[in-house]
Amino acid sequence: MVLVYAEPTNGAFKKVAHELVNYARKTADVLGVECHALVLGDTPGAEALGAYGAGTVHRVISPQLEAFDAAVYTVAIADAAKKLGATVIILPHNSTGKNITGRLAARLEAGSVAGANAVPMMKDGYFTVTKPVFSGKAFADVQLLTDVKVISLAGNSIRVEETGGEATVTDLAIDLPAAKTKVVKHQVATGRVPLPEAELVVSGGRGVKGPEHWDVITDLAEALGATTACSRPVADSDWRPHHEHVGQTGVAIRPNLYIAAGISGAIQHLAGVNNSKTIVVINKDPEAPFFKAADYGVVGDLFEVLPRLTEAVKKF
Ligand code: FAD
Repeated sequence: MVLVYAEPTNGAFKKVAHELVNYARKTADVLGVECHALVLGDTPGAEALGAYGAGTVHRVISPQLEAFDAAVYTVAIADAAKKLGATVIILPHNSTGKNITGRLAARLEAGSVAGANAVPMMKDGYFTVTKPVFSGKAFADVQLLTDVKVISLAGNSIRVEETGGEATVTDLAIDLPAAKTKVVKHQVATGRVPLPEAELVVSGGRGVKGPEHWDVITDLAEALGATTACSRPVADSDWRPHHEHVGQTGVAIRPNLYIAAGISGAIQHLAGVNNSKTIVVINKDPEAPFFKAADYGVVGDLFEVLPRLTEAVKKF
């Protein structure tokens, strides 16, 4: 069986969970086995995960799971996998997955691949998982040789397809250890659609020259109903919050439209945005590497181009 940890976003199952379940379904189809989902906590709408391919959803409900604790979550997922006889366990490659994939693999004595970006294949008789390396410049095919396998999936790696109906939801009892950490404050990032789920993104780089000029980015985003993003040096300089940083070390996105202004297009930036359907680049340097990845490019000063674009969008 393939068991996928379906993680809710702000108390609901959204694109991140749908993509994971759909990935698990496709993995299960490769192996000819069942696809089940695991939910930690009482999130509503678990049965709807069936639409993305989970036949059964197992819920573990416990007060110890209300706040994330890596040690407790690892035990919950590992023991659920053992009880259910799962041979492939799938997690998101986000902060949760990065925290627990290794722990889980150690507990299950499993081979693991962190940050996979394609559905596993049987190649030369081996279960093989592809992941990007060198900031997405190359790909590695990794054979997992153990009976139990743990994979974390990089966000926005596959196109999500609805394949089924409602899943059966059952409760699973797991003995959980006491938490080793305590969350004392949650600060929810405000704004529009969260970046991993955004269809329209307007992003600024060092070319915007400082936080006091960011209106050119936010005005266009406002007019389009888009989410804002930025390059890493912008977040590192505290011009914008860190949750807006996209790229290899930031959020990976797959919007329909990515507008990048004043961003050079370093490979570490492209690693997180090159799955965008349409990329528009605005840069005053015609030699900027980003133009090679762009569908549309404007060579010009962003302080002239962006306000004109915003005015044009507002007319529609
Ligand atoms: P710059 O490289 O300084 O580019 C600014 C661009 O703005 C230039 O192309 C310039 O021509 C243009 N410009 C200037 N003024 C104007 C104007 N008025 N109008 C139009 N254009 C203008 N970076 C990320 O973004 N995300 C990551 O996840 C990331 N991870 C990294 C991981 C590692 C291990 C390392 C080593 C680096 C990482 N980086 C990452 C940094 C990356 O290598 C680049 O340094 C960074 O992306 C550059 O940011 P930038 O394009 O905003 O700035």
